[in-house]
Amino acid sequence: MQRPLIAGNWKMYKTATEARSFLQDFLQLYHEEYAVDVVMAPPFTALHALHNGLHTTSIALAAQNASSENEGALTGEISPLMIKDLGCTYVILGHSERRQHFGEGNALINKKVHLALSHQLRPILCVGELLTERETGQTNSVIEHQLLEGLHEMTAEQMKSVTIAYEPVWAIGTGKAATVDQATEVHAYIGTMIEKTWGVTRESIRILYGGSVNPENADSLFTSPQINGALVGKACLNPDSFAKIIASAHHSSV
Ligand code: PEP
Repeated sequence: MQRPLIAGNWKMYKTATEARSFLQDFLQLYHEEYAVDVVMAPPFTALHALHNGLHTTSIALAAQNASSENEGALTGEISPLMIKDLGCTYVILGHSERRQHFGEGNALINKKVHLALSHQLRPILCVGELLTERETGQTNSVIEHQLLEGLHEMTAEQMKSVTIAYEPVWAIGTGKAATVDQATEVHAYIGTMIEKTWGVTRESIRILYGGSVNPENADSLFTSPQINGALVGKACLNPDSFAKIIASAHHSSV
């Protein structure tokens, strides 16, 4: 099994100035020797500041989104080429907030995943069900659909560069994380499905859990061998709580 991965999704929080100050505080708490891969996904406007501040560490940089095109008359868009040039090695794609507020569908997300991979960016593909879908027993079918369409025409080799984040929409920003059992069940389903569909081994793919992860619930979530890390929203904005979640992942893996 690979090292756990902890990614912080800053969403639309922190200016570049605030990002520099966050990093100063965070690096005092961060243990480079921990057996955890750490990724930070600030807003586009703070990528440059973080890239400068992270060059002495192994912390990787991610964008929270990228265009499905390399360049063009697309006002307001940021291409994968541009984020690569700013030092990103990962990109979050298909986050439920992009799906919900910006109308991103699986076909567009699939185009973004392919383009990101063509630039050697590692996609973190988010999937997850709405509360009504869970309550009506559709969790697995919703996720299967998101994966089949979002990862359409992906080779087994390409799949090894993809990270999946299972983020139940009802758990994001609500303070109501999935239980270990709920997350484990879906992660196992995703793992089996990926093995069957793309012919890659479960061990070669990391499946992160996301949705109200915090220092209080991290220890118990990471007891599950199915949970290979976390995509953290709110709790990554505070240096202390983000460092504590990373420490939990480290302790669970040693
Ligand atoms: C997210 O935005 O990906 C997320 C998981 O947010 P939160 O941790 O705040 O629920």
